[in-house]
Amino acid sequence: MSYLEKMFSLAGKVAIVTGGGRGIGQVVARGFASAGAEVVILSRSGADETVSLIEKDGGRAYHITTDVTNEESVDAALAEILKRSGSIDVVFNNAGICKHQSTFEATLADFREVIDVNLTGEYIVARAAGKIMVERGIKGSIINMASMSGGIVNIPQWQCSYNASKAAVIHMTRSLAVEWAEHGIRVNSISPGYIGTPMSADTPQELRDAWMPLIPMHRMGKPEELIPPMLYLACDAAGYTSGSDVIVDGAYTCL
Ligand code: NDP
Repeated sequence: MSYLEKMFSLAGKVAIVTGGGRGIGQVVARGFASAGAEVVILSRSGADETVSLIEKDGGRAYHITTDVTNEESVDAALAEILKRSGSIDVVFNNAGICKHQSTFEATLADFREVIDVNLTGEYIVARAAGKIMVERGIKGSIINMASMSGGIVNIPQWQCSYNASKAAVIHMTRSLAVEWAEHGIRVNSISPGYIGTPMSADTPQELRDAWMPLIPMHRMGKPEELIPPMLYLACDAAGYTSGSDVIVDGAYTCL
């Protein structure tokens, strides 16, 4: 293994990917597995497709049914991972939902649901994993899924709850990075722009057409284009990177 391969390797590491049954999580889970990690997918429905893709590539993965908004469910999943895999080294806190609604259309329950999954869910998983890392002296890496929507307001669709949740994820990330620095745990976030996934496939064509002129690269990103920055944040190459938000948005937020 070359110096560079070693630096970017996840060999011997156990990596959690929440919401890894499809979309960005599935693609990044495959990326982590091909860098040598054993990958554990946490989501409410199954992840057979992700697990079999990883196994076909020659990697190792399994799925645990988990609701990230439920602390008991997360604690049980993490306990099972420790029993089965012996460690938790990398966490990609990716599970998330988005509701396109104006603020007057949305109910309070809608707002709370988005905050519950996108912010509180990431907090529950990060806190539980961080506790295990501290107790076991694991110098782990936690990567929280934010979004460019945490820094800008998307148009023409309204999604106040989503934007607010992602802005909070970015600052929660900074807070945890500082709080856990003395334990050698790194906490970063990633902020993609529009990425082609099942979440965005449901988007009406007229909305996609409205987005294109706003993206300097005039296209959506591919989930695969998130693997390199994710791998960087996950592995030892990023030893001095913590509290950062890595923006991967085709230059959208520069405008
Ligand atoms: P998808 O809808 O394709 O996937 C979302 C995943 O989250 C699913 O696997 C789903 O699994 C899981 N999930 C949702 N709620 C829960 C829950 N309560 N507990 C556990 N898992 C849950 O979305 P994307 O791949 O498009 O997005 C992934 C992340 O990336 C999200 O956080 C999103 O906000 C963010 N993002 C997406 C962008 C895009 O353009 N696609 C742009 C910027 C950020 P299940 O339903 O089985 O639980």
